[in-house]
Amino acid sequence: ELENAKQYVNEVFQSVQEKNPNEPEFLQAVKEIFDSLVPVFAQHPTYIKHGILERIVEPERLIIFRVPWVDDEGKVRVNRGFRVQYNSAIGPYKGGLRFHPTVNASIIKFLGFEQIFKNSLTGQPIGGGKGGSDFDPKGKSDGEIMRFTQSFMTELYKHIGPDIDVPAGDIGVGAREIGYLFGQYKRIRGGFEAGVLTGKGIGYGGSLARTEATGYGTVYFVEEMLKDHGLSFKGSTVVVSGSGNVAIYAIEKATQLGAKVVACSDSDGYIFDKNGINLETVRRLKEVERKRIKEYVNEHPHAEYYEGCSGIWSIPCDIALPCATQNEIDKKAAELLVSNGLKAVGEGANMPSTLEAIDVFLSNNILFGPAKAANAGGVAVSALEMAQNSARLSWSFEDVDAKLRDIMKNIYRNCVNAANEYGCSGNLVVGANIAGFKKVADAMVEQGV
Ligand code: GLU
Repeated sequence: ELENAKQYVNEVFQSVQEKNPNEPEFLQAVKEIFDSLVPVFAQHPTYIKHGILERIVEPERLIIFRVPWVDDEGKVRVNRGFRVQYNSAIGPYKGGLRFHPTVNASIIKFLGFEQIFKNSLTGQPIGGGKGGSDFDPKGKSDGEIMRFTQSFMTELYKHIGPDIDVPAGDIGVGAREIGYLFGQYKRIRGGFEAGVLTGKGIGYGGSLARTEATGYGTVYFVEEMLKDHGLSFKGSTVVVSGSGNVAIYAIEKATQLGAKVVACSDSDGYIFDKNGINLETVRRLKEVERKRIKEYVNEHPHAEYYEGCSGIWSIPCDIALPCATQNEIDKKAAELLVSNGLKAVGEGANMPSTLEAIDVFLSNNILFGPAKAANAGGVAVSALEMAQNSARLSWSFEDVDAKLRDIMKNIYRNCVNAANEYGCSGNLVVGANIAGFKKVADAMVEQGV
């Protein structure tokens, strides 16, 4: 059985490689998940019979479109827009939009593929999707952001809807962009369909605690994982990479739980503050003034700024929370963290650790919370936002936060149980992949080819 399962997984992976050359991030995400699923196919050969792997790895559709806009100098510019509608077996497509110059089909497909399993893990009825553009928001005026975003929606609206596909934010897409996207969708459709986007402003259908959800959720997940091993955030030293929405609220919650967060970063470099990061400064610099993180040292002269991003992992810490972007921790960074006494990792970003880095963590018995479990709190609260929109209600912050905490606890438990059941105790990478996969696979079997 095991040999059969291995052979099946290898064959399908090979054909995925052949069909998707030059898509390294996509193949990386696929490889990680496929390898985890071998014990599942060994125990349930019926999935093989139903061709589940071949089907699940192929997106239901990938939409690529032109996004023309006019910059402040009156020059016409063209970017490329993407939306992958990956899997709708358990609910409408759901996943964020990323505006970043690195966006291409490989990036969108890796994110969309991960999203299927992450969304399933939340226990909510949401399928997997993702989208974005190679548009670079850095240095753009508010007017340019608005015109680009409106043009993006002028095509995207044809493909989305509250029961079809529900985008949200990701890197480069926050409350401001969601507002412009929603305004344009409403203008074109001529009706108020609150549930078409999540991460909306609180005044027009947004959910309290959605902004905080990814960062808080990551910390709740890690807290659960630590507790299970007799550890906690209290008194620990934490390094958080990034300084966007995920990082800011991970720093906030970790600090509330008694940790000292000594570093954070942006794409230019990182700051080290031995007294603990002053979150108000970071929040104002990044969210209000939209400046670079290096400005932090002007206000806190005892802190240190270093150019480049990977150096942040040379800072000794008990807990690492990578909350910036994919592949920010490679083998060398992982080895450095381990040799400096690391105890736990919680992935707030999507696929922040390379496959080799994950091997280093697992083989050194580091507690490792993989992205699709640890950062699922964001999309989980997005699903709660959809529920509130359908019911035309809005729940209190405390209500949503309590639900988020429960969801993260359940995700942790389900990952642990799945890992145990399939003979990989303690390996939450395998646990998350299996638990997320089974619900989707069963729905696909039940719904036929
Ligand atoms: N972009 C987030 C993620 O990676 C949130 C997606 C959503 O809320 O739909 O899961």
